[in-house]
Amino acid sequence: MRKKVHFLQVKHKEDPSSLAKKIKYLYDKSGAGDLFSKGDFIGVKTHFGEKGNTTFIHPLYVKAVLNKLVQAGTKPFLTETSTLYRGKRSNAIDHFALANEHGFGFDKMNVPLIMADGLFGDSEIGITINGKHFKTVNIAAEIAKVQGLVIISHYTGHMASGFGSAIKNIGMGLASRRGKLKQHSVMSPEISSDRCTACGLCIEWCPKDTISMVDGCAFIHKENCIGCGECLAVCKFGAVLYDWKRESDALQEMMAEHSAGVIKAVKGKIFYFNFLINITRNCDCGKDGKAVSPDIGILAGRNIVAVEKASYDIFREVNGKNIQDVTYPDINPLVQLKHAEELGLGSPDYDLVELQQA
Ligand code: SF4
Ligand code: SF4
Repeated sequence: MRKKVHFLQVKHKEDPSSLAKKIKYLYDKSGAGDLFSKGDFIGVKTHFGEKGNTTFIHPLYVKAVLNKLVQAGTKPFLTETSTLYRGKRSNAIDHFALANEHGFGFDKMNVPLIMADGLFGDSEIGITINGKHFKTVNIAAEIAKVQGLVIISHYTGHMASGFGSAIKNIGMGLASRRGKLKQHSVMSPEISSDRCTACGLCIEWCPKDTISMVDGCAFIHKENCIGCGECLAVCKFGAVLYDWKRESDALQEMMAEHSAGVIKAVKGKIFYFNFLINITRNCDCGKDGKAVSPDIGILAGRNIVAVEKASYDIFREVNGKNIQDVTYPDINPLVQLKHAEELGLGSPDYDLVELQQA
């Protein structure tokens, strides 16, 4: 059956407080509240932005959703997991401090932040799925205890999956450390000796200490590499190379399989908001990037495949190009949607309901 996806257009660089009001309207019109009952514990998952990033979803937008959940008598809380790479989000304490710095503290949000995978990312549960790559996926333990999730995703380009949005937000973002490792370990970069300037930055940032300087060039000892992509993100000289075509397809499928685990864990009680605002080439794990599109709007719906496909289509409609054409042209990001559909997570056919004005 075709699923409804609600779409609220926004102005480019719209004032955050005016937009926050519209989000409440979108919440009501899209029927997000119908999914949850009074007393339900609802995890609200977003990305608080890495240190130095300012294009993450504005806290006021997240608060607008949280307020609706509180008014309905549910018990919402913000939730996240630790990253694999070094940075300010690799354990619960640093992540919490950064979230606070970025405006997601209890003083601003009036709800707590609970790290779903514990202090160090190893608090997990195995969920059985019937996947092509996995029969069991490892997701953050607390996720299996909630009565529902609201997934607030920032739609951006992504160096490994073409675009990063809801599937990445839950498939990677709600996987435990082990789940993340299992997905990333398909990716193994190489370093071009022609481009490497021996600056040493990748050595400093590699979480597995698996890069060393050999004859004036960085060298990756692949046996310990977990494919986290940190070296690629920090190299300013384009010296870290991936075979995107082969690696990205498998990574995207694995993300979809972990998404299936998350969806199964909460018995499908998930609502999705995709924000097509500040659409950058890379996700909010990196420092600020240039926008590759004007601000477009917010999409909302119950089905992950439909909401992701609608986001992809609207980007093309507005820009006359697919997102990968202006970010990573060698990657086909539709692989994640196709695999999600094969896993029974939904259909890319949808009916778009355009909301006029709050
Ligand atoms: S960050 Fe890039 S240029 Fe610097 S050592 Fe590593 S590969 Fe070479
Ligand atoms: S060498 Fe491997 S483990 Fe180290 S930063 Fe690069 S991708 Fe990550």
